[in-house]
Amino acid sequence: TPTRILVCGGGNGAHTLAATAAAMTNVEVNVMTLYSDEAQRWRNILGRDSIVVEVFYNDGSTGKLEGKPRMITKDPAKSMEGVDAIFFVVPAFAHQQYFEAITKYIKPNTIVIGMPGQAGFEFQALKHLKDAAKLCGVISLESLPWACRILEFGRRVQVLGFKDVLGASVIPGKGNEQISDDSSLRSCMVTNSAYNGLLHPMKKVEGGYVPDFNFRYTAEDVPFGLVVMKGIAECVGMKTPTLDEVIVWAQEKLGKEYVVGSRLKGKDVGETRAPQAFGFTTINDLCSVL
Ligand code: NAD
Repeated sequence: TPTRILVCGGGNGAHTLAATAAAMTNVEVNVMTLYSDEAQRWRNILGRDSIVVEVFYNDGSTGKLEGKPRMITKDPAKSMEGVDAIFFVVPAFAHQQYFEAITKYIKPNTIVIGMPGQAGFEFQALKHLKDAAKLCGVISLESLPWACRILEFGRRVQVLGFKDVLGASVIPGKGNEQISDDSSLRSCMVTNSAYNGLLHPMKKVEGGYVPDFNFRYTAEDVPFGLVVMKGIAECVGMKTPTLDEVIVWAQEKLGKEYVVGSRLKGKDVGETRAPQAFGFTTINDLCSVL
């Protein structure tokens, strides 16, 4: 199913995002602007056409993209139907009225993005979304990803340059439509629809089957996952009793030795990607590469 986004706003950034997102395969774009009669004007001016984006790439080349939103409306209820992510692409003073218009329609697992949102979008989002905030993600971008301006309202916009780096703060939220029973770790794994059809590899043994722990779920995710986390924690002097317990269990299955007691000093640490395998053992060592 396509990802459906809502673009809030009707200015330079909203035009650019609406068109560039709609130009992508598998993305549907709703646009909502609450400002005056902007939605109706935009709808009338665009008609059946697509919004054209004239792009100046940073390497000096130019290009053209076209994308058509599936709706441009002033109606919050309509605009929010089936939406996975909401982009606030209006000047900061206008954010509050959009929160007030859409909050009651927000479903769990929706991502709310201030574009830009810095500084302070997170605080405003948490206040307005109330309990829904726990089930949604909130992202606050430090700017727009482009410098852009409307050439012809509703129809043509120009991207003059792209930001190489765009900082963001992220509050991930705890929602999950993928897991139908989150009462235990086991039920989280077996009722997660994202894992449908994925089974853990098994080995045939006398009398039945046992898990094949040499498959990458353990053989890769421990030395190149948990052990790395353990190594970073050790560099900063943090105790990790739960992580240690899991690694000790897994290393026995793998026939390896990473953790001894609570220290990362087993004979096989050098085969992992823990910082200690590369000579980083303190927080100063870690910071020295920056
Ligand atoms: P813009 O000035 O084009 O936005 C105008 C839109 O804001 C209007 O079309 C309307 O939808 C809304 N608006 C204006 N007055 C309103 C009011 N009184 N009530 C409700 N809505 C109102 O803004 P933009 O260029 O799209 O920029 C959006 C944000 O991104 C701004 O905070 C801007 O500083 C920032 N930004 C813009 C650029 C850029 O290149 N355009 C680059 C970096 C950051």
